[in-house]
Amino acid sequence: YHPETQSISYTTLTRFPPVKLLPPSERKRILVTGGAGFVGSHLVDRLMLLGHEVTVLDNFFTGSKTTIGHWVGHPNFEMVRHDVVEPFMIECDQIYHLACPASPPHYQFNAIHTVKTSFMGTLNMLGLAKRTKARFLISSTSEVYGDPEVHPQHEDYWGHVNPIGPRACYDEGKRVAETLTYGYHRQDGVEVRVARIFNTYVNPHDGRVVSNFIVQALRGEDLTVYGDGKQTRSFQYIHDLVDGLIALMNSSETRPVNIGNGDEFTIGEFAELVREIVEKVQREDGVVPERRVQIVYKPIPIDDPQRRRPDTTRAKESLAWQPRWTVRMGLEEMVRYYKAKMAEGSI
Ligand code: NAD
Ligand code: UDP
Ligand code: UDP
Repeated sequence: YHPETQSISYTTLTRFPPVKLLPPSERKRILVTGGAGFVGSHLVDRLMLLGHEVTVLDNFFTGSKTTIGHWVGHPNFEMVRHDVVEPFMIECDQIYHLACPASPPHYQFNAIHTVKTSFMGTLNMLGLAKRTKARFLISSTSEVYGDPEVHPQHEDYWGHVNPIGPRACYDEGKRVAETLTYGYHRQDGVEVRVARIFNTYVNPHDGRVVSNFIVQALRGEDLTVYGDGKQTRSFQYIHDLVDGLIALMNSSETRPVNIGNGDEFTIGEFAELVREIVEKVQREDGVVPERRVQIVYKPIPIDDPQRRRPDTTRAKESLAWQPRWTVRMGLEEMVRYYKAKMAEGSI
């Protein structure tokens, strides 16, 4: 504030990353529920850089204000603490509805609230989309296929889900969220997009396999493989997912679309890969570990799916999207990032 001219200096804006200047006709008002979470915060960064107006709605259950803190104060950005289980009013053009814990320990912490988030939260956001005529995208999941009998999983497969097991709050929650989404599409003409996201890595300490293995290997602790390690997963890097979500939102595809990387690993192989990459990074940094970390086996969680790999033909055909990051490239980036975070004491 300059007392002589009684004006406010806008030089403070330079503390923000450079956002694109969009003409008002192209600038969208975008609501991102769960925008403080892992996927949401990366999506928010991209939408902000593209020059849109972004409102984040989050109850900070698993997300944190710090993930998007760098945007606070920017005129295109707003953050609201709110639980999507309760109704919410705002005017917007697009809704990315991501709010829902995604890691098994998090979504099982309060199973009833997870179901309420998927059911009532999605109902509210669809009601909002109907009222504002906003386009609505939901982040669904490969978990709608359950422990699949079809491999790889294509979008027309109906799935194999245990409706009463410990994972059901998440899997069945997402299934009913998809049902609601297509209900509003058919009955009320809401424009909908459904992304079925496959395993994406990942935030430190989220309890999922990629972060567990990287943190364990960097700390010189043994890697914990659950079960015999023969179950498979296919891992995609967050940047590919963000590309896919934005491409889907702006496409005309209303059917569900798998977004994932088709590189499939057994969890045992994956543990070896993480160990090898961590060793490579340590070597490059001149670190000589006292001993080689071992791979140890722990009991397998109930209903752990045996195999998972996306068939991404639809994403290729409809969105011209395919992953650009190999698992090795993505993991190397992640290991360096985790290492830097550990050095500064924030992991
Ligand atoms: P995350 O836990 O990091 O983020 C979820 C965000 O939603 C957090 O910020 C959390 O605080 C918020 N949230 C949770 N319940 C809420 C509620 N009731 N009201 C308001 N906010 C709430 O998880 P993520 O990995 O970023 O996942 C984001 C979305 O993507 C989820 O819908 C998840 O189901 C889906 N998804 C993720 C993966 C993956 O591998 N990361 C895979 C498939 C699907
Ligand atoms: N809703 C909301 N924000 C809005 C519009 C609706 O949260 O801007 C909620 C509303 O409170 C209701 C849900 O979305 O619980 C479904 O709305 P809809 O209009 O479809 O149903 P109705 O209100 O007629 O039951
Ligand atoms: N897993 C593991 N060690 C860990 C965490 C997970 O072996 O420290 C296994 C888990 O049993 C599952 C796979 O890795 O077979 C992926 O688990 P995650 O929780 O990351 O995601 P999911 O795909 O099961 O939702």
